[in-house]
This record gives sequence, C-alpha cells and structure tokens, in this order.
Amino acid sequence: MEKISHDIIIVGAGIAGLRAAIAAADFSSKIGIAVVSKVYPVRSHSVCAQGGTAAVLRDGDSYDLHSWDTVKGSDFLADQNVVEFFVKQCPEEIIALEHWGCPWSRTEDGKINQRRFGGHSFPRACFAADMTGFHEMHILDAKARTYGNITFYDEWFVTSIQTVDNLAVGLTAFQMKTGKMCAMRSKAIVMATGGHERIYEFTTFSHTATGDGMTMAYRAGAPLKDMEFVQFHPTGLVPPGVLITEGARGEGGHLVNSKGERFMEKYAPEKMELAPRDIIARAEMTEISEDRGLKGQYGPYIALDLRHLGEDKINERLPLIRDVAIKLGGVDPVEEPIPIRPAAHYSMGGISANIHSETSIAGLFAAGECSCMSLHGANRLGTNSTAECLVFGAVSGREAAKYALANSFPELSKERALTEEKRIFDGILASNGDERVASLRNEMRQIMNGKAWIFRDGHHLQTALKEIRALRKKFENIAVEDKDKQYNTGLIGALQLDFTLDLAEITVASALARTESRGAHYRFDYPKRDDKEWLKHTLAYYSKDGPRLEYTPVTITRWPPTERTY
Ligand SMILES: Cc1cc2nc3c(=O)[nH]c(=O)nc-3n(C[C@H](O)[C@H](O)[C@H](O)COP(=O)(O)OP(=O)(O)OC[C@H]3O[C@@H](n4cnc5c(N)ncnc54)[C@H](O)[C@@H]3O)c2cc1C
Repeated sequence: MEKISHDIIIVGAGIAGLRAAIAAADFSSKIGIAVVSKVYPVRSHSVCAQGGTAAVLRDGDSYDLHSWDTVKGSDFLADQNVVEFFVKQCPEEIIALEHWGCPWSRTEDGKINQRRFGGHSFPRACFAADMTGFHEMHILDAKARTYGNITFYDEWFVTSIQTVDNLAVGLTAFQMKTGKMCAMRSKAIVMATGGHERIYEFTTFSHTATGDGMTMAYRAGAPLKDMEFVQFHPTGLVPPGVLITEGARGEGGHLVNSKGERFMEKYAPEKMELAPRDIIARAEMTEISEDRGLKGQYGPYIALDLRHLGEDKINERLPLIRDVAIKLGGVDPVEEPIPIRPAAHYSMGGISANIHSETSIAGLFAAGECSCMSLHGANRLGTNSTAECLVFGAVSGREAAKYALANSFPELSKERALTEEKRIFDGILASNGDERVASLRNEMRQIMNGKAWIFRDGHHLQTALKEIRALRKKFENIAVEDKDKQYNTGLIGALQLDFTLDLAEITVASALARTESRGAHYRFDYPKRDDKEWLKHTLAYYSKDGPRLEYTPVTITRWPPTERTY
C-alpha cells in the first residue's frame, strides 16, 4: 500500500477546511499541507450557504450584543468564553474575505451591507445576494490555490483516523477514481468534514452531509458532544426540502397559516418571523398539527409570503430563492406564496473540541460543522455557522501548524492500514447479503423523521433506538452489487450509511437521556428547561454496546440563565 506523508492533513474542503489550510500556510511556508475531500472543494455543502455571515461592523452594534444574542439563542447551553472569543474574531474574517475579493452586497455608499436575521437584535448578516456561501467558497478556494505548500486530494474518500495511544498518527483514504487505498501519515490532522443532516429524510443539506468525520473521530476515541441538538430550519421548500433562506424573512417575508394569519404573533410577539429557528419550527408544527396548515399534494404546509416585497427587491436580494422556488417548487414568489415546512438543517453537536480546536486525541483538531466547541449550545442563530467556519477554521489551521512544527512524524503501522483496506474492500465491497443499502438508508431516515424530529418523547425515542440498532444488524448483511473499484458510488453509499447509522444511534441515545426541553430539543414528556439537572453538555463515547454518555459543565462567564422569550 502506498504511504503518503504531510505535516498537516485537513479532511474537508468546505469553508472550515479551506480557511484552515490558508491559516496554516500563512503560519509557515515550511510545512506541507494536504486538503483531502470526497468532492471537489467547491461542491462542498458550504457552497449552498445563502443568507449571510454574522459580524459586528457598525455603530449601534457591539460584541456584547452579538454575544448576548448567541447565548440567549443557545438557550444558555453555549460556553460563554467561546462565544466572547468568537464574536471578536468575526469582523477580521469578513475584512479578510473583502481583501481577497468577496463580492459582498453593498450599501449605496459602497460599504458592506448587512441584513436582519433571526434571533439577532441588529442587522449583522454580511451577504452576497442570497449566494453568500457560493462566493465565500470560490474566494477561499482561489486563495488556497495560490500557496505552494498546499496539495489538494480531490475526490479522495477518508475511511478512518489512525491512532496509537491516543495520538493521531494518520488516516486511511482511497482515491475514488482508482479505488487505490493509501496510508496518509501526518503530524496533525484537522477534521472539517461538515454535518450529518442526511440521517433525516426531509433536509436542506446535500447528499454528501453524512457526518463521516464525526463517526471516524468517535471510533478513534474522541467523544461527540451535544448530539441531541439538531436544528430544524423553518423554511424547507416543499416538496424537495431545499432551503429558502432566512434572509427572505430578514428582507421582510411573512409566515402565514391557512386562515391567512401571521401566526408568529402568538409565539414570539416581539420578533415575529425573526425569532430563533427552534421557536418558529415548533410554531409551524403546532399550526400544522392543529389543522391550520395549508393543504397540498405533498402534505400540509405553511406559506412564506414575499409578494409585498415587490419584484425588484426579490430580484436584487433573493434571486436564487426566486429561481429555486420556480424550478423546484413550481411557484413564482413574485406572484404566489412559497410552500414550506421545517427541515433538518444543522448539527449543533459534533466532535468535542476546545477553544483552540483541540480534541481529546493529541494531534487531532476539529473545526466547522463537524466540531462542537459549544458555540451554538442548544440552538444556533442563522449566519453564525459560516462565521464559525471562518473563525475556527483559522484557529485550527494555526494550532495545527504550531503543533506540526513542534512534533516529529509518528509511525503509522502498515498492518493496521492493511486491516482497514481489508475491511473496506474484502468486507464491504465484497458483501453479497440480502439487504439493499438504499432501503436501509431510507428506513433510517424515516425512523429519524418519524421519531426523533422536532417534537420528541421517551416512548418514540426508545422505539427509534431499537429500530436503528436493528438496522445496524441488518447492515452486516448488505450487498454492494457493483464490484468495480473505480468510482464505485455503491461502495461510497455503503460507507456513508455505515457512518450515519452510528450518528443516528448517538443522536437518539443522547436525546432519550436528556429529560428536559432546551433549544432545538423539545420533549412532550419533559416540556420545561431544567437548569438544575441539565445545564450541562452531553459527551458520547464509543463503546462496543453503543454510546456511553457522560456529562460536562457549561462555562458561564457573564450571563446566567434566564427565561427565554422573544
Ligand atoms: C442550504 C444551506 C444554506 C445555509 N446557509 C447558511 C448561511 O447563510 N449562513 C450560515 O452561517 N450558515 C448557513 N448554512 C450552514 C453552513 O453552510 C454550514 O454549516 C457550513 O458551511 C459547513 O461548512 P464545513 O466547512 O464545516 O463543511 P462542509 O462545507 O459541509 O464541507 C465538508 C467537507 O468535508 C469533506 N468530507 C466529508 N466526509 C469526507 C470523507 N469521508 N472523506 C473525505 N472528505 C470528506 C467534503 O468533501 C467537504 O469538502 C447553510 C446550510 C445549508 C445546507
């Protein structure tokens, strides 16, 4: 088996991974950096980010206000030291992107424009029309390619993190074009592998969002933190689930039920359609379950009405949304309201990492959506994610660079890499059982949608856990029909299902254990937040019999928990 060595290997080429690579390369031109991605960088999910990136840029706004909005939005589960650090770094990242050429939308006097977003008490979302992520990604990708010491491994699939005595020594990965497996040795690894939303059926996320990196870190011994907290975005387009940005409401869009009422008046009288996402998603589900949803061929829905904004504003600020609504929803928002429903949208949980992006494994760092620094707590505010990817992408790149300069190459055992090759090619690729990967995947997603969705309870979570574990058993009996090694999407699908099955199990087990309601985690049987018992983070550790849960305190610096109303 071929062995490749780089001082730093970054897995993932979304906003977090690319920002990490640039920061590491800026730190030292002497270190060799690899960026490994299962898709071409600009096909990472980050390219889909629409509405904006948060930063304090103007008089009237302040770091304190951004911190407070984030802490309140998190339902007090965010670590406040992380929040305070984060908000101070955001403006620098926006200015860096500006200098690298990001085409921000502008005010009339040429300044970077900012729009309103849910849960933020000041318009602080910097945006490039409704294609913010698209532009940020192209700028970062172009910038990263100007460094002589960054090597790209595009369309390489990483299968495992290799460790020795809790030290990360490298990875195993195969090139998708050839099926050639390699052992990749490194001094430092940065995981920047994105979210796991594809454990759900109705989601705004790309098919690639299967949380691979989270599972790899978990299997290597790092705990996953706060996995019960999954964000449901209020406006997934019906029927495909594609996102209609919160920016549509930031620009003044209304949510309306079948009686023509702006129902948010009842649930968040002050913030209305710009309340945080957990609150609006629950409000929509309540309207639907009490029969005030609109009726359509794809089930009940809520109407997002933009007509009063007028065609010119829609074309200038929300051109992608108009296009998506026409092509995938069959409605022109200039003429008709858009049919929407809540959709799985973000993983607040992830690989547990500290403010320096360090995980519990030496030499292993994590950044972006796959990580959990406890910035978002129980509910993330819109536009804080791309900002997090920039801020902590940069932190992880610098920290990994420091670490790589201070350490020598570890040994990566050839035998262990060969065992992994056997597991993939003699095991999964060769499998000839009776179960179809696509059917198991659909079953998993239906279980998660049906029993671990916006409203949860002990009985359904318990059933979901049993059913997910039964799927894990069935997975042992799958068939991968195509045996070719080149571009085998059947094999990739099986590996991704393997990763997501663990994450579905951890999400449900963590949710079942948390007997309270907080942020995006709402339980009918425990409808109140319980700070006495549950003001703490969940840590899920790998064990042969399923996740072992432990807990760790929340860091509170300045804002003790209070009642959360909007
Ligand atoms: C439609 C949509 C709109 C959004 N809009 C906004 C917004 O306006 N503002 C905001 O702040 N947030 C927004 N978000 C959230 C935000 O975009 C994401 O949380 C963020 O971009 C995640 O970036 P990332 O770098 O962590 O990972 P990603 O961009 O998801 O990239 C993951 C990378 O990991 C690689 N990878 C994964 N597994 C493997 C493997 N096994 N082997 C090799 N490589 C692997 C992939 O190839 C990819 O390069 C939006 C999300 C969606 C879905």
